[in-house]
Amino acid sequence: MKRPKRRIRTFAKTAPKTKEKKLIENAKKLAKDPFILLPTCNDKGAEKVIIKVRKRIEKVWKNRNDIKKLEKLANKKGIEGAVAGTLMLIHSEKAPYLASARIGNRDIMYALRGKARKELLIAVQNFDDPILRLLGFRELAMKNKICLYSWDNGFVCSRGDSKPPEDFNKFVFDKIGLRFEKDIAHCSHIDKKRLRNGEPDKEDYLRIKWKNIVIGVCRSCANKSNKNTLFEMSKYFIDPNIGDTSVKIVSRLPELKGEIDELNDYLDGKITDAQLLSKTIEKWKKKLKSSDRRILIADGKSYDTVEEFIDSLKPNRYEKIGLEFILS
Ligand SMILES: [Zn+2]
Ligand SMILES: [Zn+2]
Repeated sequence: MKRPKRRIRTFAKTAPKTKEKKLIENAKKLAKDPFILLPTCNDKGAEKVIIKVRKRIEKVWKNRNDIKKLEKLANKKGIEGAVAGTLMLIHSEKAPYLASARIGNRDIMYALRGKARKELLIAVQNFDDPILRLLGFRELAMKNKICLYSWDNGFVCSRGDSKPPEDFNKFVFDKIGLRFEKDIAHCSHIDKKRLRNGEPDKEDYLRIKWKNIVIGVCRSCANKSNKNTLFEMSKYFIDPNIGDTSVKIVSRLPELKGEIDELNDYLDGKITDAQLLSKTIEKWKKKLKSSDRRILIADGKSYDTVEEFIDSLKPNRYEKIGLEFILS
């Protein structure tokens, strides 16, 4: 039998006092200056978009002392509705009734007011949280092709084709534990030059090119972190052109290459770096093993042992490792 009601993931909880206090404090800060929740614009393209949001927020903010008007404005669906709902908090005597939502791996509490989507309420009420405040601008950024970068010391908005700010890069690569220099971020086990050129190194590695930055994570580090590097990074930015990001796997054996079947799962954050590496390389190995038997037979001469066959090809050290693997 079908249940008539859908389950809703949000649920009410008795809120810890500190959380209530924090939300009201933030509402008071917004009453003083509602534009603190907006990103700083780095160029005219972004400014054109943000200025419209600014105007909508200003209209609501002008009514900050009128609870009746705020109540009405809180029914607006956009971010200004969430601002109105949040400003209502400073008028109520009682502690706000808090709802909870799961964002990533965190339980987020927020005050449910008006009709704005919960993402917008969460963003407005947590404007000082680099990850949560981005929730308020996702739709806007995608629609208007602007990028947002959010970190501990900055919140910046710029044209879709803009490069990420230097400070942002430092923050985000420090967060995920990669060395960062200029336009390359990597674990200590990958040679910078090889990574830049996408050439094989001592270990298999994941090579991501996002905007102007090349990112490399070796297989051991991927296994240790058990994370999806691109997904971890993207908690701190919105890039409408994220689909242009290139994700490649560079095997230490040059013979191992091909398509990445699990690419979409990776881009959606469903699998980790380690899973992408192991699944892909496993497939490439199978493919290579099954295809190379033919080469052995098709070769003009026949060889009794694998060793003789390999020697006849006069491989270099590198090729030899590969051949031994294929023919084993
Ligand atoms: Zn380096
Ligand atoms: Zn490594």
